[in-house]
Formats: sequence, C-alpha cells, structure tokens
Amino acid sequence: MKAALVGTDGTLLHEARRATDRERGAEAVIESILAFAADLRAHGEEHLGESAVAAGVAVPGIVDSAKGIAVYAANLGWRDVPLRTLLSERLGAIPVALGHDVRTGGLAEGRIGAGRGTDRFLFVPLGTGIAGAIGIAGAIEAGAHGNAGEIGHIVVRPDGPGCSCGQRGCLETLASAAAVTRAWAAASGDPGADAADCAKAVESGDPAAIEVWRNAVDALAAGLVTALTLLDPGTLIIGGGLAEAGETLFTPLRAAVEERVTFQKLPHIVPAALGDTAGCLGAGLLAWDLLSTEVSA
Ligand SMILES: [Zn+2]
Repeated sequence: MKAALVGTDGTLLHEARRATDRERGAEAVIESILAFAADLRAHGEEHLGESAVAAGVAVPGIVDSAKGIAVYAANLGWRDVPLRTLLSERLGAIPVALGHDVRTGGLAEGRIGAGRGTDRFLFVPLGTGIAGAIGIAGAIEAGAHGNAGEIGHIVVRPDGPGCSCGQRGCLETLASAAAVTRAWAAASGDPGADAADCAKAVESGDPAAIEVWRNAVDALAAGLVTALTLLDPGTLIIGGGLAEAGETLFTPLRAAVEERVTFQKLPHIVPAALGDTAGCLGAGLLAWDLLSTEVSA
C-alpha cells in the first residue's frame, strides 16, 4: 500500500508505504487500510499542524465509486466492502472518496503528470496485465458498469494465446510486461529472464530479443490504434513496467502506431511521469474534488 498526504494543488506533503498483509485474509487487509489512513491523519496533525480534511482511497478490482463500495478484488479476497463508510467512521466522519486503482492513477497522470494540460487522454499501464483509463475534461470515464478502458482485453490476434478473461489473443496476453517476460524466457532459454532483460538484449542487438520485442510492439500498436480510433485522445500516456524501457519501447511504438493510422490524428505518445505514486496522488485529487463539489453544491 502506498499512501500520502496531498496538498490542494496535488503537492506531495508526506508519503508512506506498508505491506498489504493479504496472506492474513480480507478482514486483515481492510483493517490495515483503515489503520494506515488513521496513522497518516495523525501524522498530519502532529507534523503539519492540521488534520486531513478529506480522504481518497483507490483499490483494484471492481469498484462502485458512486456507492463507495469495493465490490470485488480476486487478489485481496474481498466482496462488497463498504470502504467509504468504514474509512469515514475511522477518520472522524470526514468526506471519503473511493476510486479504482488504474482510473485513479490515470486521473493523476492526466491532471498533474504526463498529460498535464490535455483535455482528452488515454492512460495505459503495461504491467502484469494491461489496463486503461479514459480521461475526458479533467475526469475519468468509468463506463456504465465500471469497466471502461479495459484495453488489455481488446482482441488483437483472434488465434492468439488464451487470456484469464476467457477470450483468446487479448492485447495483454501479447504485450504486457508479463507477456514479454514469458516470451523472452522461452526464446532465450533462461527461465529467470524478464521483460527488462529482453529490453537490454534488444539494445545490444540480439536478433531473438528483437523478434520478441517487435511482436509485442506490433500487438500493442494494433490495440492502441483501435483505442484511439474510438476515443481520439490528444495524448496517449504509457506507464507500467514495460514503459521503463524508455525509447527502446517508445521509438518503435510511435512508428508502429503511425504506420497503422489512416485518417486518425496521431496523439502524443508519452511515458507516464508519476511512477507508482500515481495511485495515491490520484486518491488525493479525488479527495480534494469531493470538497470542491461539496462547496459548489
Ligand atoms: Zn482477455
């Protein structure tokens, strides 16, 4: 878990990290979130001279932000947790916002990170899977059922590998950091080799690595072109582990996207700027938004 005290303009005032404790079960995870938030609030009172006036929390899985309920997260083992109410109770009845981790990270990248100043953007983190956040006019579009932006499950190779979602050839089976790790471990014959090793081998001109990398970049470009055809974003922000390869990824990716577009306008394709603090900065922005909404309402 990453947590922060965040100023009105998104300034990071204090940052802390703690283990999620997921081996001890959903109840323990929930309690560790509540205790972490309470400790952070106490830190503000003690060191910054005032208490947090609102809180934001971002969690993985399926999230109902309107109701403040963490609906489901396979890796945390919880179902229908009224996290907003629980947190507000623990924090002295201050307003609490509940968000989805990728959408909340995307909100921060769009407002104060790599997409700062753009009205419409798409944030795509390439990690264990591939997710997405659609930014429109300072907010993130969640969709009618909370599933908008799931670009990782766009099918780019109908005969491709099976995906955890039940489909075949989804983008994340071909171009996530985990997919590149799998492909490079197989191609290099080193079961311990990962996507970062593949990027290094590409940089040193290894033909097998270049082949693995090109397959991933081609799949990624195909998925991104589908997304930008639908959304027409001004900026495409690429984050997650695979983006750490820098220009080894971005140079061929920009070329592969450009090659595929016809009438579509090319967005700026840029690396994410906030790294793994995007989620907690975004949660801070959600909390501040809550206050400005209350004031204007
Ligand atoms: Zn899928």
